[in-house]
Amino acid sequence: MLSATEHGPNTTSVRDLTTYLDCIWQRHFSDIPRVNEVEIAYGHPWKQRLGLIRLSLDNKLSFIGINALLRHHSVPECVLIATIAHEVTHYAHGFGSPLPRLYQHPHANNVVDRELEQRGLGEYVRSCDEWIDREWCAFYQMHRKPPCFGRRATRYETTLALDIRQCLWYIDSVFEGMYHIINSPTGPYQKRHVSIPCSS
Ligand SMILES: [Zn+2]
Repeated sequence: MLSATEHGPNTTSVRDLTTYLDCIWQRHFSDIPRVNEVEIAYGHPWKQRLGLIRLSLDNKLSFIGINALLRHHSVPECVLIATIAHEVTHYAHGFGSPLPRLYQHPHANNVVDRELEQRGLGEYVRSCDEWIDREWCAFYQMHRKPPCFGRRATRYETTLALDIRQCLWYIDSVFEGMYHIINSPTGPYQKRHVSIPCSS
């Protein structure tokens, strides 16, 4: 089992995503090669998304974005671990990564959760889903404006800005810092949705 103590982060530090990613990859995805650079960073405090993975147009960089709200220590660690592992699974399946694409759709036939179960992460997924179902809407309303402004742009974000200009990716909405990019030259982005109808 993964734990905060094993990962290094404690209750007073910011949850270091690179540490979590490396630990999860080493323990549960050691058979999956990192064939390009993989960057992970906190993104926007999305209301309906926990994480996403995208691939730069030159295939040299995969970027995993994690909902900024998951840095709060009041969010159970299982939510952070399940979210990161979910995106690594997409990478392993060839979505958001240069690896061969194993499925036509990233979530076809529940392939992500089945993969996580096989890799010993099923308990994290179930605990995560239970907490999200029970707590997310109220938690979001309370913490929707985290201190994430003024941070430096990640390398991926810089790349993304260039990609948007060069390749006309489509942005269908901008709302309270949440954005959806619905299409790109390589197909729709992969992203995890929180399937809860929040009231506002
Ligand atoms: Zn997904």
